[in-house]
Amino acid sequence: MNFETQAIRTQLSNASQKEHSAPVYLTSSFTFDNAEEARAKFNDEIPGNIYSRYSNPNTDEFIQKLCLLEGAEDGLATATGMSAMFTSMAGLLQHGDHVLASRALFGSTHQLFTKVFPKWGIEHSYFNLHRPEKWESLITPKTKMIFVETPSNPGLDIVDLEYLGQLAEKHNLILNVDNCFATPYLQNPIEWGAHIVTHSATKFIDGQGRTLGGAIVGKKDLIEELRFFARHTGPSLSPFNAWVLSKSLETLAVRMEKHCENAFKIASYLEGHEELELVKYPFLESHPQCELAKKQMKHGGAIVTFIVKGGLERGVRFLDSLNMLSLTPNLGDTRTTVTHPASTTHSKLTEEERASVGIAPGLVRISVGLENVNDILGDIEQALQASKEKTVNPRIENLIKV
Ligand SMILES: *Cc1c(COP(=O)(O)O)cnc(C)c1O
Repeated sequence: MNFETQAIRTQLSNASQKEHSAPVYLTSSFTFDNAEEARAKFNDEIPGNIYSRYSNPNTDEFIQKLCLLEGAEDGLATATGMSAMFTSMAGLLQHGDHVLASRALFGSTHQLFTKVFPKWGIEHSYFNLHRPEKWESLITPKTKMIFVETPSNPGLDIVDLEYLGQLAEKHNLILNVDNCFATPYLQNPIEWGAHIVTHSATKFIDGQGRTLGGAIVGKKDLIEELRFFARHTGPSLSPFNAWVLSKSLETLAVRMEKHCENAFKIASYLEGHEELELVKYPFLESHPQCELAKKQMKHGGAIVTFIVKGGLERGVRFLDSLNMLSLTPNLGDTRTTVTHPASTTHSKLTEEERASVGIAPGLVRISVGLENVNDILGDIEQALQASKEKTVNPRIENLIKV
């Protein structure tokens, strides 16, 4: 079956009421017919649900579907993206191990590497995304895992997954890819040699800004180890959220098509705009890694970044001038959302540190939603004009037609 069909037709199959849509199993535990069944299930002699911290029909449906879409052997669902990142590492690493990671990481993942794992003697080195020829030299006898995000946030740099897959194989390392920005519709890291793929399902998988969720999929033996860890540490996804996320996967393909179409139109329109210094989007010919992006991604994704002329202050004025676009840290929503990393998510870094991960003072990140593209562009254009002046006039009218 094809991607869309798998996403829609993978479903729980017991239908006591002949329901067409999967029901929600909001139950913390499951019953046994007799003591012998309880014993056998607890000893993994027969399959079946015991307790929703271990498994639940709704989380199973969600994860089975995601495994099909990622081409993975097995997986487990988690309550948030961060619990997926944490579990995927804490469950496999031990004191003395070392992780090679790209510096351009989601903020909380960076905190894991710098503040949490060192407490347990797990170390890391960051590689520079722009110097792939140096990556191999950072591998030590203690290195056990490579962890990356691609495209990176908010720099939109592309990491060469095929190269990393080969590097991991050569040094017998686990390649763990956070595929949150691309989703399985745009990119399947397992095809290039990843052993584990991690997700924040909060973003495009839900796609409508409603629930938190996460997932880890990959090689059966690794997932087995992680399942033990998760069963006893408890990052489990709620059945209700799993039901929401499984339903969301049914529309992932059509949503991603539209997200990417809108994002490409916006990036193309903005490129060369007199109020901007730079527009970045993986499928724009001007992106230094456009060819690589096209090799490993189906479309360029939903995130567009640009640098407004006038630095930090202009960036702030631009955000204050928007009428429709939402100022919110989330991304991957039906609604277009905007952030200004230098004054928010990355404000604690020095300007130099920000520059090293591609964050200029005037950098604006847009997660392009599913509204009509002309309305999105209209709001961006009027805010660019309004933010030129020191005093903001949010009512300036300047509608664009694409
Ligand atoms: C949001 C995000 C996470 C964390 O996910 P939560 O669901 O918020 O815990 C991890 N990685 C990336 C790339 C993200 O964008």
